[in-house]
Amino acid sequence: MPKAMAGFTELTCLQLDKIVESLGEPAYRARQLCKWVYHRLASSFEEMTDLPADFRRKLSENLKLHSLKLIQSVTGSDGTLKVLFKLADGNTIESALMYYGGEGEGNRHTVCVSTQVGCAIGCSFCATGQQGFERNLTAGEIIDQVLYFARYLREKENGHKSFDNYKSKRISNIVFMGMGEPLANYTNLWQAIEMLNAPEGFGLGARNMVISTAGMVPEIKKLAKEKLQVGLAVSLHASDNELRNKLVPLNRKYPLEKLIPACREYSRLTGRRLSFEYVLLKGVNDSIAQARALAELIKGIKCHVNLIPANRTPDLSCVPPARRAVLAFENELKRNHINVTLRKSRGQDIEAGCGQLRSRFLKHSTQRNQLKQEKSEHV
Ligand code: SAH
Ligand code: SF4
Repeated sequence: MPKAMAGFTELTCLQLDKIVESLGEPAYRARQLCKWVYHRLASSFEEMTDLPADFRRKLSENLKLHSLKLIQSVTGSDGTLKVLFKLADGNTIESALMYYGGEGEGNRHTVCVSTQVGCAIGCSFCATGQQGFERNLTAGEIIDQVLYFARYLREKENGHKSFDNYKSKRISNIVFMGMGEPLANYTNLWQAIEMLNAPEGFGLGARNMVISTAGMVPEIKKLAKEKLQVGLAVSLHASDNELRNKLVPLNRKYPLEKLIPACREYSRLTGRRLSFEYVLLKGVNDSIAQARALAELIKGIKCHVNLIPANRTPDLSCVPPARRAVLAFENELKRNHINVTLRKSRGQDIEAGCGQLRSRFLKHSTQRNQLKQEKSEHV
């Protein structure tokens, strides 16, 4: 057994098999355990009543089931639930649960998951980008965000814990679009995806997961060769290098002449349609000429453009265009035969933009600390 208290969801199936074996239990116990954690969403070993009491005791002495502590949760008027978690080392991350039940939206509960604490890329319009980079999340910390919402939905639906009527499939989609750059944390991200996909794990179809990237070219190429059919979204935001260098500084390393062929290659190799995310910023990237240039840039790629009017971030003076300009941009893409969807900004009233809740929290806790320091200096 590992010395420090390891997280259950940090373990691959193989590692779990080894632990079960080292505790002198038969191999099928590993499957039983997975079923309790990933299907029945148990939150303690005591609940696993078909396991021997002694085994449960040993497990609880050596493995912990939670790596996240809820410190704040806010629900928006559109039903988006945004939460701030504290990790074991005191760092904080955000996650969100969005419900899409409108016309043409199906009936989906989508979890938006963080993959890093902060982000090193530093996009000018993104609250997370302005927080700097702390560290990668572990596979377990990524998975635990999903399990938190799965438990939340179960309890909301049943009003109480019921292990038998519940299917973890209540969460229909996972998007890796929270804080951080998922492809800069490839190994942990992939371990998490495999467990979230495995039938003995969370069991969600890979096609129901989407990784969003600012454009890490080597990793896009690697992703194209993976067996699991996870979706890819590329955050474009500009169709010329000069502007993209300013908005997404990673563009200096992987400029459009490298990124676009990698996207083309991805869709050719996988046969899958990829998405381009385009955050519309007033007076920056929202002109008709820029819509035309975008259409020209991605012409011939099997893709879909998601237009997202910017979430206001007061500190970054980031402003969405007027509705008229947004619709004109969308129309210009359509006129140029580009598949496009105008995304509603979810959870506007609760600062659901990437990293905004954490920014506020960090600001307040810095102020609190300063206050404490000032007070103690006065004593
Ligand atoms: N790092 C990855 C995934 C996390 S960001 C990426 O950049 O793709 C997820 C999405 O949120 C990106 O498309 C990003 O451009 C968008 N985003 C960041 N700040 C935003 C803001 N202020 N308004 C709207 N979308 C924003
Ligand atoms: Fe990082 Fe994505 Fe935010 Fe850019 S938009 S700073 S890549 S999290």
